[in-house]
Amino acid sequence: MGLNDSSPGAIRNGRALSDQWAESVVVRPRTTERHITVHKRLVLAFAVSILTLIIVTVVAVVLSVRFEECGGGRDRDGAAAAGEAGPRGEAGPRGAAKSNGSKGERSGDRADEEAAQPWRNSRLPGSVRPRHYDLRVAVNMDNFTFAGDVSVELECVNATRFIVLHADRLKVERVSVTAESGAGGRPANRPGGGAMRVHRHFPYPANQMYVVVLHRELKPARLYRLNVSFSAAIEDDLLGFFRSSYTVQREKRYLAVTQFSPIHARKAFPCFDEPAYKATFSLALRHDAQYAGLANMPLESSSPHEDGGVTDRFARTPRMSTYYVAWAVCNFTYRETQTDDGVTVRLYARPDAVASGAGDYALHITKRLLGFYQDYFKVQYSLPKLDLLAVPKHPYAAMENWGLSVFVEQKILLDAEVSSSSYQMEVTMVVVHEICHQWFGDLVTPVWWEDVWLKEGFAHYFEYVGTDFLFPKWNMEKQRFLTDVLHEVMLLDGLSSSHPISQEVEQASDIDRVFDWIAYKKGAALIRMLANVMGQTLFQKGLNDYLLSHMYGNAARDDLWSKLSQAMRSEGRDIDIGQMMDRWTLQMGYPVVTISKNQSEQLATHHATISQEHFLYGQELRSSNSLQWQIPLTVAMGNASSVSAERLIWIHNRSDHSSSVRWTIHPLFLMLGIEINQTGYYRVNYDLHNWKLLIQQLHNNLQIISVGNRAGLIDDAFNLARAGYLPQGVPLQLIGYLPGEPSFLPWHSASRALYQLDKLLDRTDEYSLFSDYVLKQVASRYHQMGWPARGPGGEGSVLQASYQTEELQRELIMLACSYGNKQCHRQAVAYISDWISSNKNRIPPNIRDIVYCTGVSLMDEDVWEFIWMKFHSTNAVSEKRILLEALTCSDNIFLLNRLLNLSLTSDLVPEQDVIDVIIHVGRNPQGRNLAWKYFREKWNILNARYGEALFMNSKLIGGVTEFLNTEKELNELKDFIKASGVGAGPAWPRALEIVEGNVRWHHIHRRQFFQWLRKPLSSALG
Ligand SMILES: [Zn+2]
Repeated sequence: MGLNDSSPGAIRNGRALSDQWAESVVVRPRTTERHITVHKRLVLAFAVSILTLIIVTVVAVVLSVRFEECGGGRDRDGAAAAGEAGPRGEAGPRGAAKSNGSKGERSGDRADEEAAQPWRNSRLPGSVRPRHYDLRVAVNMDNFTFAGDVSVELECVNATRFIVLHADRLKVERVSVTAESGAGGRPANRPGGGAMRVHRHFPYPANQMYVVVLHRELKPARLYRLNVSFSAAIEDDLLGFFRSSYTVQREKRYLAVTQFSPIHARKAFPCFDEPAYKATFSLALRHDAQYAGLANMPLESSSPHEDGGVTDRFARTPRMSTYYVAWAVCNFTYRETQTDDGVTVRLYARPDAVASGAGDYALHITKRLLGFYQDYFKVQYSLPKLDLLAVPKHPYAAMENWGLSVFVEQKILLDAEVSSSSYQMEVTMVVVHEICHQWFGDLVTPVWWEDVWLKEGFAHYFEYVGTDFLFPKWNMEKQRFLTDVLHEVMLLDGLSSSHPISQEVEQASDIDRVFDWIAYKKGAALIRMLANVMGQTLFQKGLNDYLLSHMYGNAARDDLWSKLSQAMRSEGRDIDIGQMMDRWTLQMGYPVVTISKNQSEQLATHHATISQEHFLYGQELRSSNSLQWQIPLTVAMGNASSVSAERLIWIHNRSDHSSSVRWTIHPLFLMLGIEINQTGYYRVNYDLHNWKLLIQQLHNNLQIISVGNRAGLIDDAFNLARAGYLPQGVPLQLIGYLPGEPSFLPWHSASRALYQLDKLLDRTDEYSLFSDYVLKQVASRYHQMGWPARGPGGEGSVLQASYQTEELQRELIMLACSYGNKQCHRQAVAYISDWISSNKNRIPPNIRDIVYCTGVSLMDEDVWEFIWMKFHSTNAVSEKRILLEALTCSDNIFLLNRLLNLSLTSDLVPEQDVIDVIIHVGRNPQGRNLAWKYFREKWNILNARYGEALFMNSKLIGGVTEFLNTEKELNELKDFIKASGVGAGPAWPRALEIVEGNVRWHHIHRRQFFQWLRKPLSSALG
């Protein structure tokens, strides 16, 4: 599953999307004919309802009489009765009568069993297991309902009278159970066709379960068949089987598609909705002939009905988890390609998007990626086809349903003419991620959600490896991984409100919370560290063994560790991977490793002491009894012309937390963790003298320190200072070497670190001291690189991008414009003026977002209106997004307020973008107070509309609070949390800790920070 954006969390429109405006704009063609039909139907419906009323009354009277005869009050499932709003079908009272009639030695057992009430447990009891589902679903796109029958072949594991499975929001109409031939081949065709008498059946909404109580026990090792018919509405809330719409030539069209991960298959059909209950599925999908049906497997047959309907039958799936089952009903078009192995890959999207070729890029790379993963994992792709479905609305960036992966349009469609290379990179990585899941996720599935990182960490890690396969020059795994994954997640995981990557989950409501950046990014960082410790060949060998051993099944983290350890042993390397990795996965956070050189120069041998402690931003939170890790670490010595003699040492859990290393030659400076571009999940600190030598070295000859390590030094220095491990002047002095820095990555690392500071400082009186210092570092390189050639179609064209140069140029323009370089501002204004006067957009795609934002912030209201108009008229999804972002850059509070209100109360802004609008207003220094105020005022609406599970907790809350940094704001935050009673979600403690940290930084470090900026020559290192 792919999360959205670079902020934690993803869009998750949990509950009431239909409220307010989403529903009010539905315009559907209405003809007089339709009115007439409706009228006739009304008359008919009225007659039927009168008849039904009469029948129901008669039946109720009869039943109540019989129920009394049976002594009624036998219902020991009293608690469950609360949930028995659902129909009882043909069972119920009749079953009760019979069971009462056969009172005997068994009734004691039954009482025990019923007392156990397995449906009260949040997990399935495991007494029966599904083997195969025959599922028939009839979809009605006129009234957005569906009805289905599911027939589940079950194997009984332990004798039981209960079949407990999941169902949510479904109206269950009929339930029956039959005995099939058992393992011993006993025929089931006894009189009555093997039908098992159902005692009663009822929903248990607290656990989203449905319970079938049988009259007699199911016997172990025998097979049974459970048949349930049901119906439900196709809601527009992005969960289960939901609907969505788009416009073709001003006509609104609908599609319906599924999103079952993590626990929403139960909203579309009754099923054993836990990942370990794998089964095979045969789906028949009935729908109106004007639509096409899609599912995990290829279409086998399609039979028309007289009423204009069609039933599509799809091939039987391999064994798989319920949350990967998928289907869709839409009238999209597609383009297709074939892999060398004969797998058909299709991209389905809106007809106009397909016609414009916006899906061709994803199609092309998917074909190549299937080949890449097959070679890498040495395991074939399992299905005969893979469809990529681009939908206008989706709760996540994408979802890796086996054979039918679903993407939100903005993450898969690419208009080469107007898309920036960063947009192209984003699309590429989402596709690489989802294709990886076809192995890590679909084929081998984590046993339970606590180890969701096993699939998400791998898919995220492979985003970088797979993208390198497609575009080797981008050098993603060695470079961009550092800033975008490692540095990014260490910001979060350095908080005491973080959590271990493997986290216990039991309640359904907790499951969404495991999909966070810790699972994705820390998972990826740990896998990368492990891959480097093992070496590429053994790592691949271990993965291959893991996939082959668990294919079509489930695996837990220990299964992976044992296969990787086995691979190591096969080469005579005896490392207990499980023991090492448990430290990293079962405890939160990460270490800071400190190396101090012995100062006595006269000794013949020199030595250094290495120690570890739990890195935390909050000084007062650090305890002497800190967590410890098993750290693979390289130590290297540097002199003026080289860094050499890497040696791997392991820092273990020694009681003194330290270790020492010795040399006979005297190194100029020491470095830690320089192995293959910073693969360790830790920070490195040095004694001040060593920092000074490293900084001198960067000034004198930076090339001897690798690009990755230069980026790492910058990130470590800023964060160590932020947390108070280092004086504030160290990182500032360190970036003094940047004018000589020719590579993108260290600039990118610095830019991100400076943004963290910028948020703290931009409303202070002395802000210009800081921004002037940054501009001083940026100026020379910025002028040297200049601006890109005019696009589109020129040299700046995205598909021929020379990535490193373009990205560096972009980074410098962004730094220059956002910190106030006058020439940068003039250039941006000139571009916008040219666009307005010529009505031709000649701004190179790669820097459009910067130019738009700068133009809106510097120019008058007319420019805002112009961008607003362009936002409505463009069809390119990437362009739409950056135009919307630009609107948040205005320093006119009135306009920002208007934008916020329009976003929330009209359909002018797509609903999945509303949250981004609020966050981006918050990122604008002029809009910060407004965003914070607006967020609090509208909390009830936002919370109701978007749900609090994942997206609200992480993205919006983080986005509107991260810049708060005064005592007053801290108190406002505390008051708000108290008043709105929202203290439980993980996002609130995190927000509180971040803001407390901001306030603390101002108290403790701000003076020292500005002091250094006023007199940078009086070295803060001394
Ligand atoms: Zn994923």
